[in-house]
Parts: sequence; C-alpha cells; structure tokens
Amino acid sequence: MMTPLLAGNWKMNCVRGEAIALAQAIADGSTDVVGREVLIAPSFTCLAAVSEVLADSNVLLAAQDLYWEDSGAFTGQISAAMIRDTGAGHVIIGHSERRALFGETEYTVAKKVQAAYAAGLTPILCVGETREQREAEKTMDVVERQLRGGLCEAAAECFDTLIVAYEPVWAIGTGLTATPEQAEHVHGHIRTVLATLADHGVEENIRILYGGSVKPDNIDSLMACPNVDGALVGGASLKAEDFLRIVHYQE
Ligand code: PEP
Repeated sequence: MMTPLLAGNWKMNCVRGEAIALAQAIADGSTDVVGREVLIAPSFTCLAAVSEVLADSNVLLAAQDLYWEDSGAFTGQISAAMIRDTGAGHVIIGHSERRALFGETEYTVAKKVQAAYAAGLTPILCVGETREQREAEKTMDVVERQLRGGLCEAAAECFDTLIVAYEPVWAIGTGLTATPEQAEHVHGHIRTVLATLADHGVEENIRILYGGSVKPDNIDSLMACPNVDGALVGGASLKAEDFLRIVHYQE
C-alpha cells in the first residue's frame, strides 16, 4: 500500500509572517495524521523560516522550482543545493504555470529533474493538458510526451522515489475539477507509461497526485479512485481549515 500524499502549493503567496502562521496551523492540525503524508511548498523566501516551524512536525517541505546548475553567474536562480540547505526535501518541477508563463520545456524539466535527484531532492513532476488539447482528444499523448520528456535523463533508481502530479491545466484555479472518472482514466495511463520507463513493477509504487481545484468537498471522491494516490492543492492550501479538511479526507 502506498502512503497517500496531500501537498499544498502556495504559489506566489504569503510573506514570511503569514507563511509562518499558516505553516504552524497546518503543523498543529496534522499531529494526528497517520498513514498519509502532508507537504507544503511555500515561496523560496519563506522556505528557511517555514522549515524551522516544521522541524518537530510530521509535515514535509518542498520548493516550487529550482535551477539545474550548481552555482555560478545565473542571476535570480536557486540551485538544488540551496533548496536542500533550507531543509526542504522535495521540489515541484514542470508546473503548468511555469510551462505556460516562464517558458519551461521538456528539456528544462528534464534538466531540473536530474538536478533534483543529484542533490537528493525528490521531484514532484507535474503533467497535464490544456482545455484545447483535451477537446482535441490529445490528453493521453500530451501527458505521455511530458512524462517521457521530463524523465528522459532519470536513472532507474529515481523511480523509487518519483512523485507525479496530474494537473489538467483547465482545472487549475478555475473551480473546474476533473471528475473522478476523468482523473482515474489519465492516472491509469500515466502508470502505464511509467511501467515502460521504470524497472518491472516499480510503477506500482509511484505516487500519482491529482491537482486542479481540489477542495474539501471533492477530495473524498477523488481519493476513492484506485490510481489517485494523493493531491496537489493550490488555492485551498492557503486556508489552514480547508487544507486540513483535505488532509483528513474520508475521516
Ligand atoms: C496547482 O496550482 O497546483 C493547483 C492545483 O491549483 P488549484 O488547486 O488552485 O487549482
């Protein structure tokens, strides 16, 4: 049995004081969590402060992106080692906002995945189709291309820890959620693609999170899908009460 992961992506929200308060509320509300993992991804500037808040908690910490070079003349970039240095153990890579707004490509995603592993960070690799691609029945092709592209440099052992997030772009921040049937269908396909990349059977233990307007009122039905192993939550992770309800799904 895989341990479900409930992850909050705070995006470009919260200055330090707000981040500390939100992280504390989530840590306090997660003390009773068993059999599932909780993770939050604040902005870079809040990672160190939030790391201190989470030190004695069972909440994991992630960055929202990284740059693949170790150091050097790359103004404004943050390396994997810098992220590790804050205490974070995970990093989100290839979020659709980065692909759409900041020119992320299969090439840059693959470089970032490789850099994450090299530094001992666990990547949460995001894939997902736009509304136009879904309407053109290209969902499976798009997701497969993003997986193969992002993982083309990944060594066999990387698949032991890899986390994938299926985030249909049309569902992110829109209030539209994939139905459990739609999510299950794509998650099943993702696992089939992973089976062709990872060593035999390893794909069965790769967590595939669903993301896209996950809320307290839809988490239970999404988590009932056999191939949905957790959630990557944007907007609803910014309110401790909502996120904690998501963390405590089906209870
Ligand atoms: C996200 O950005 O990862 C996300 C899923 O956002 P939201 O939950 O707000 O749709």
